[in-house]
Amino acid sequence: MKGNWGRILRVNLSENESREEELPPDVIGGKDLASRFLLPLSPELDPLSPENPFIVATGPFSGTGFPGSSRFGAFFKSPLTEIFGESYCGGSFAPELKKTGYDGIIITGKAEKPVYLWIHEGGVEIRDASHLWGKDAWETEDELKRELGKCEVLTIGIAGENLVRFANVAHRKGRQLGRTGAGAVMGSKKLKAIAVRGEKEVEVANEERIERLKEEVIEKSREVHRAISEFGTPNILAVSHNAGALPTNYWKDGALENLDALSAETLKKRYFRRKTTCYACPTACGKYSVIDSGKFAGTEVEGPEYETLYALGSLCGVEDAEAVIKANELCDRFGIDTMTAGNTIAMVMYLMEKGALSEKDVGLRITFGDSEGMLRLIEMISKREGFGDILAEGSYRASMKLGEEAKKAVIHVKGLEPAAYDPRALKGMALAYAVASRGACHLRHMVYRPNLTGKHPFDPEKSVNRLSYDQAEIVKELEDFYALTSSLLMCNFWCLPTVGPVLWNELKEAYESITGVQIDMGEFKELGAKINDRVREFNVKCGVNREKDTLPERFFTEPLGRGASSGEIVEREKFEKMLSEYYALRGWNERGIPKRVS
Ligand code: SF4
Repeated sequence: MKGNWGRILRVNLSENESREEELPPDVIGGKDLASRFLLPLSPELDPLSPENPFIVATGPFSGTGFPGSSRFGAFFKSPLTEIFGESYCGGSFAPELKKTGYDGIIITGKAEKPVYLWIHEGGVEIRDASHLWGKDAWETEDELKRELGKCEVLTIGIAGENLVRFANVAHRKGRQLGRTGAGAVMGSKKLKAIAVRGEKEVEVANEERIERLKEEVIEKSREVHRAISEFGTPNILAVSHNAGALPTNYWKDGALENLDALSAETLKKRYFRRKTTCYACPTACGKYSVIDSGKFAGTEVEGPEYETLYALGSLCGVEDAEAVIKANELCDRFGIDTMTAGNTIAMVMYLMEKGALSEKDVGLRITFGDSEGMLRLIEMISKREGFGDILAEGSYRASMKLGEEAKKAVIHVKGLEPAAYDPRALKGMALAYAVASRGACHLRHMVYRPNLTGKHPFDPEKSVNRLSYDQAEIVKELEDFYALTSSLLMCNFWCLPTVGPVLWNELKEAYESITGVQIDMGEFKELGAKINDRVREFNVKCGVNREKDTLPERFFTEPLGRGASSGEIVEREKFEKMLSEYYALRGWNERGIPKRVS
């Protein structure tokens, strides 16, 4: 298949050795590649054991210059959820890794002392990283670039070293493999960083056809990406707030008291200094924020993204943009996922408000809106200091240690906290959170978008009612679409439901032009379904079934508070019917078990 080299690099840190391995010719890349290697693992595998593979994978689009092809993925058994762990990141790492002549890296074992991996034209080196251990993610990247010259770097911060279960992996001081604990897996292997520099140019099958498609897609993106290019993802905040779907005060409310406090317009006017972008992307959705004055003067960070504004803003009742920017910077430097961090801290605020936790338990008094307490807890979590040691396990595991009230309060699916869309206000998200392959995720389907816009993702003639439970078909088709974009490796913002600019037709055309594989649309869609089936098989082996494909009890019984969806719940019977419809569409049985074996 053109676009791929057909080989990966295998690294065994216990043995201090590496070797090349050929890939089967039908491997696409990304999620498809990783699911083949993860499926045979024992379901008993401890995610923090040396045997858990840390897979970094590109796809056939990587390095081709196709717009949106900056993505790469990391895959492993998740230390947070103990099911399929996956996380994706933009920036410039994917094309650089591709240029080394490998489609991906599979790292197993555990080094005796801290190391980093250095892959370059001259070979593969496992180098001592003792001088980097203890440094934050940004310091580590700076230090490595000083040492190695031109290269692209992935690194963990101290949270990864401390095995915080939601530690992330940082790239370019602002892009992250954010969710499901990739940083903890690297930390468990004593792997501080991966640096790559390559010079090989990847070949595509039909240069002329892909160049023409590139131009068409870029032309369409000018309109589609206008808002995201100007405001970044914070642009979604007002839309979500207006629908009453913005999780606020630990899932009690669906809207802020004061939208302006965190709005995209406020951020743009006061803090955004410049745009940032990824490889081959004219959109530049990233926003670099700087605080010039006040108690957080001097804070600089790429962000905050919408998901961070929600998790460390509305969810914690913190209607203070500067505090959110500061919290974002701390999370990025320490190397923790802002979404799980915000959810875990907001849960503590909620429990303290209910009297289920005391100042003595936590080591400080913290209530909704307490930004100082939030910043302190981020540090305690990252360092596993005091009560932070319990919270470093993520909200679900922490709740199991904190008593009955915490077990009733915690919001998660399969151990992963949801994204910034309340499923009581967007019923498609209820199903999508329940069945998504990594837990309560928003990116493996993007169902929030048709729910918020009212537009069908692929059929302009049809509309979507966000309160309707008739969404099984939409969820299934979107999941299959994104299983492919996560294997070919495309940025989701270039593949937005309804507007694209890359939807089924463009994706198939790019696939054919780059790989040289001609494929019927039905078969192409089936590839996506097959990848989802294989990941499901892995998750079923890890104990996932219909009982796990559900939502926290609060969503079924506690009406949503403030906002346009006030009073909404997820009706259990309708939810279960939608779940059965979804299983039937996938060809899974009523227990959610796939019939097909890959
Ligand atoms: S749209 Fe944003 S995230 Fe996607 S490739 Fe462009 S800059 Fe990166």
